[in-house]
Amino acid sequence: MPDDVVTMDKIVSLCKRRGIIFPASEIYGGIANTYDYGHYGVLLKRNVVDAWWQAMIGDRDDIVALDSAIIQHPRTWEASGHLAGFTDPLVDCRTCGQRFRADHLDAEHDVRCPRKPSVLPGQGPDCNLTEAREFNLMFETTIGPVQEAGSTVYLRPETAQGIFLDFKTVLGFARRKPPFGIAQVGKSFRNEITPGNFIFRTLEFEQMEMEYFVPPDDAHRWYLHWLEARMDWYERLGIRGDHLRLRAHEQDELSHYSSATSDVEYLYPIGWQELEGIANRGNFDLTQHAQHSGEKLEYFDQQSGERYVPHVIEPAAGVGRATLALLCDAYDEDQIGGEARTVLKLHPQMAPVKVAVLPLVRKDAQPELAHEVRNLLRRRMQTEYDEGGSIGRRYRRQDEIGTPWCVTIDHQSLEDRTVTVRDRDTLTQDRVAIDELPDVLAGKLEAPWISPKLLVED
Ligand code: ATP
Repeated sequence: MPDDVVTMDKIVSLCKRRGIIFPASEIYGGIANTYDYGHYGVLLKRNVVDAWWQAMIGDRDDIVALDSAIIQHPRTWEASGHLAGFTDPLVDCRTCGQRFRADHLDAEHDVRCPRKPSVLPGQGPDCNLTEAREFNLMFETTIGPVQEAGSTVYLRPETAQGIFLDFKTVLGFARRKPPFGIAQVGKSFRNEITPGNFIFRTLEFEQMEMEYFVPPDDAHRWYLHWLEARMDWYERLGIRGDHLRLRAHEQDELSHYSSATSDVEYLYPIGWQELEGIANRGNFDLTQHAQHSGEKLEYFDQQSGERYVPHVIEPAAGVGRATLALLCDAYDEDQIGGEARTVLKLHPQMAPVKVAVLPLVRKDAQPELAHEVRNLLRRRMQTEYDEGGSIGRRYRRQDEIGTPWCVTIDHQSLEDRTVTVRDRDTLTQDRVAIDELPDVLAGKLEAPWISPKLLVED
């Protein structure tokens, strides 16, 4: 993409500069692969999650919501196979003491020897790597004050298993029959040792997962349905279609229980990477938990008298990776009046702040009228008031966080109760009556939208 000016360094620096996302525990020197979200980051992430819930339970009738516990009974992970198999192969270097993923020691993963960064680990003159050992990615902790056998528990490495454990309970109260889904959003934890690319790979991360339970014979049809539905969802967030693709897993990549898996990938500045995995999990999970718990986890159709273990289609997405894709896709640099500008051309529905209200000067009753306008808008959309600095600087500040509209109060506003609405992308300024402003902006927010970066590329 020769026109794309975005790099991961620019995203990291913008996020830090504007307090969107920044390293956690910074006063102690930070902690690996762990980040905090500031005000605008929280708003952006919340928009992603809201859009997901809208697609899962707002736009459809066949999915219900769940919020299961992060710490589940330890036998959960025995049954799911995570205790035995959720591992990465690791090697240690006896010389530098660093640990690497054995399957990432190639140019593609850009992992470098700490002593000689021009070569891969193991290729430096002093490198002395151990044999690969399997390392479980689950964080272990203990329940209660005494560390004794039987009290070991795990922080969930995915939210999905909580859904399977509650399958029977939900089936009982949700009055649904297959095909139906259970959706949940929540934190998961993985002891990732690969140095991450910003928030792409973190130790704790939010997942948006949905398990869709279907009659066995319909599984493939529903798998295809979810591939399409999930690709559409990313496009509806405003992500450019030419930066999204579906990649089917090769036979040797598939988990042992999956008959088909595809990843939705985004062309990040670091290359094509997974945003979301969509898997046909068959009846593996329900069967495993039924065996380990002794509970029947099946569906009985009273009309047909048929009894079966549903098959499961799982779209599993990461909130952080979707947020990062939005930031990368929206990032742009241009010139206004000879001055460089950094701008996030986000879909207005994804923008952390929809409208900023700015009095041209901090006197002549302009701030008072601006507060009145702000109060008029704040119930309808996320609004910000800013009176600090020149109007140009204030526009730049809003451009950097992707605010689609700035409403400016000037001397004319006091005379005729009109304001100007400045558009982040076209830079046009329209005069609008204050009384009509909430509806005008709400209409813009609902209007069809296409990335302005695509318009330029054309
Ligand atoms: P990867 O191969 O990149 O490690 P995965 O295939 O193990 O990912 P899944 O288990 O399919 O990931 O998890 C579903 C989604 O959860 C991923 O598509 C991704 O968006 C998100 N995710 C998984 N691990 C992490 C992580 N360490 N940090 C941030 N997001 C993650």
